[in-house]
Amino acid sequence: MTLISQKIITKRQIEAVIKIAERCNINCSYCYMFNRGNEEYLEHPIYISDEIILSSARFLALGAQEAKVDTVKIIFHGGEPLMFKKSKFDFMCSVLESEISAYAKVSFSMQTNAMLVDDEWIDIFSRYKIGIGISIDGPKEYNDIERIDHRGRGTYDRVVKGIRKLQAAAYNGKINYPGVICVINPAHDSAKIYRHLIDELGFLKTSFLIPMDSHDIVSINSKNKLGEYLCNLFDEWILDDNPNIRIRLFREVINFLSFGKNYIQNQERNRAGYSSIITIASNGDLGASDEIKMLNLNWEKSNVKNSTLMKYLSSEEMQFVENTIHSLPQKCHECCWQNHCLGGAQFGSLVTRYSNAGGFDNPSVFCEGIRSFYSHVVVYLLSHGIPLETIEASIDHHHSPYKRPVPLITNLQKTKPITFYNSASDKYKKTTSVFS
Ligand code: SF4
Ligand code: SF4
Repeated sequence: MTLISQKIITKRQIEAVIKIAERCNINCSYCYMFNRGNEEYLEHPIYISDEIILSSARFLALGAQEAKVDTVKIIFHGGEPLMFKKSKFDFMCSVLESEISAYAKVSFSMQTNAMLVDDEWIDIFSRYKIGIGISIDGPKEYNDIERIDHRGRGTYDRVVKGIRKLQAAAYNGKINYPGVICVINPAHDSAKIYRHLIDELGFLKTSFLIPMDSHDIVSINSKNKLGEYLCNLFDEWILDDNPNIRIRLFREVINFLSFGKNYIQNQERNRAGYSSIITIASNGDLGASDEIKMLNLNWEKSNVKNSTLMKYLSSEEMQFVENTIHSLPQKCHECCWQNHCLGGAQFGSLVTRYSNAGGFDNPSVFCEGIRSFYSHVVVYLLSHGIPLETIEASIDHHHSPYKRPVPLITNLQKTKPITFYNSASDKYKKTTSVFS
């Protein structure tokens, strides 16, 4: 049994992202699936077939049995998952539930832009207890810059209609209250976005995602302004003093700085399960992390039809991701925030570490902003009575469990050069090849 599979058993959970519709009803300019240079989706069927649904259910059921996990968390993703036919979606949930529940508890969630929500979808969410996360980037003036449809029109009004429908259903007890995911644009006013999400849209569970920029594609503006964005957002959240408003990243940083060593031990246990997150594409192909796809790395393909979970967890791709996430870029070795930041991995995807020249052996492209954010939180904690010695003990990096060399991309080759688009409308122009 591999090291990874032992770790899976420790965590006792599999998280499977299933891409049920590999097209989207809208066309966000930053979308890593459609506008960041990976065109694999064009070779996949638009919708997952009954055959792949059945194979996926068996793959996960067998995986749950072999790994002796307690829970299989299934996250329906796309593209836009609500483009999937309702009757097929219903069939998929019942198959997944019946196949897997003999071995483990099954939980469902979905990430959606909510524009296609209607009463029938709400009945389905209710029937299968599907947790809903909605993507919106704050007020209309911000959201509609990048979250646009295929005709270049903003999506805010249509998304809010969907949000209201879901919230009404939650108010009536049919479903749980939906959460929100906002992709950070560091040039925007984060306090304004926070107030909009909380006061006007009524969310409590919020996540803010760092842009998925590598060293080769980041904009200077984005790089320089991230620290200010996070600090202002933190201040606004603190001002609210409402324990029901949850921002995972902020809670984690506070916990780390206040309870360092215990935090790291928990973190090690949790991080051990990172590799239990797998992605199943609409054609059944398995992947470690969807975001890494935009780097076009040439892994050998595995598919739910001819692999098992345990076999896949030992694959070159999964081993590489596992080793990378648990290692620290060379330049981060003297950084006092390393035990939490992990070279930026805690602040977003591994992609923010990546450069064509250095592979993943770079600090996050947002390193400067991340450092100023940590310092900001330390000042807050000191002024609220957390002793300096506690914070110093927490950040004592001499005991870092993460100081392993970052694996090099040696025998791997790019399947094709990455092309990225400056905006969604540039998509077919293919202007710049960052890997040429
Ligand atoms: S909603 Fe936007 S980010 Fe999500 S899949 Fe569609 S285009 Fe991409
Ligand atoms: S990315 Fe920056 S802040 Fe994070 S560990 Fe590396 S040097 Fe430190």
